[in-house]
Amino acid sequence: MNFSSKITDWYKLNKRDLPWRNNPEPYKIWLSEIILQQTRVAQGLPYYEKFFAAYPNVKSFANAQISDILLLWQGLGYYSRGRNMHFAANQVMTEFKGIFPNNFKDLKKLKGVGEYTAAAIASIACNESVAVVDGNVYRVLARYFNEAIPIDSTEGKKIFSELANELVPKINPGDHNQGMMELGALICTPKKPDCINCPINSSCQSAFSASVELLPVKSKKVKVKERKFNYFHLKFEDKIIIHKRHGKDIWEGLHQFPLVEGESQEIQNELKKLTGLNQEFGLTKGITLKHILTHQRIFADFFTVDLTTLKGLKSEFIVTTLEDLENFALPKLMVNYIESINKN
Ligand code: SF4
Repeated sequence: MNFSSKITDWYKLNKRDLPWRNNPEPYKIWLSEIILQQTRVAQGLPYYEKFFAAYPNVKSFANAQISDILLLWQGLGYYSRGRNMHFAANQVMTEFKGIFPNNFKDLKKLKGVGEYTAAAIASIACNESVAVVDGNVYRVLARYFNEAIPIDSTEGKKIFSELANELVPKINPGDHNQGMMELGALICTPKKPDCINCPINSSCQSAFSASVELLPVKSKKVKVKERKFNYFHLKFEDKIIIHKRHGKDIWEGLHQFPLVEGESQEIQNELKKLTGLNQEFGLTKGITLKHILTHQRIFADFFTVDLTTLKGLKSEFIVTTLEDLENFALPKLMVNYIESINKN
């Protein structure tokens, strides 16, 4: 039995029952693959179900309001994925006459669809023989071939892509690709791989090796930036104030309390400049929350302020209530703060 048959047979017996795997269509695979980027299946699955129920086809996704998409996306992180999906759905409607592209080359024209996602959709939903190479596949290949070239180097990416494409069969490439990813997720795990139950252990060059966990090799460490946020929970009677984040930064398009970033000693004055509110603020320091993203570590102090008037408030700010916040897409950090004050 060759490599691919072993992987495919194992996959058929062991695959997790996931909704996009029944009757795979390009739209379903696209939705699931984008949701699952940087996200565990257990966390992504309820989001897939919510999105598929709200937008069962690409036309309904394209016609949705971006604010509704971001609201459904809340808590999943990497919000640019939701914005790119909305753009891509509209590309399908205009550039592809409403028919989801069915080949690797055209799929790559969609915003937010790179080599990996295009290969996943093309092979799983359209039977195109092209290899999917994600973190799980890199790990299986690096160990199987005992290949120590860094997977994040240009040469490493080329070598692993060539190895993966040599292995992918013409028949059932989707099952092969999903088998490789599933094997990496369930058996050839980063720590303590289950070599005994692995279908390719008889030919794997790292099987049962004490140093197996050293593969794959990565050359670069992710640089983490630290940021200090000062959030202001401004209260006027039963009202609060929020605004929408703009610009190319995390959480673009989401809503938050007025924010002054940095270690400034002058946060009162900065708050006045930011909001246009010209009054003396009695700031009360509340909780501090730490929020970790892949490339950033955020330390957020929350201050409460009782306002005497809203006079001067700039028009970009929204006056709402705490109860109404559920109608706005919020970063998880804001959600955590609201939950903490509701508990007290
Ligand atoms: S035999 Fe072990 S190291 Fe090799 S692919 Fe299987 S689980 Fe990974």
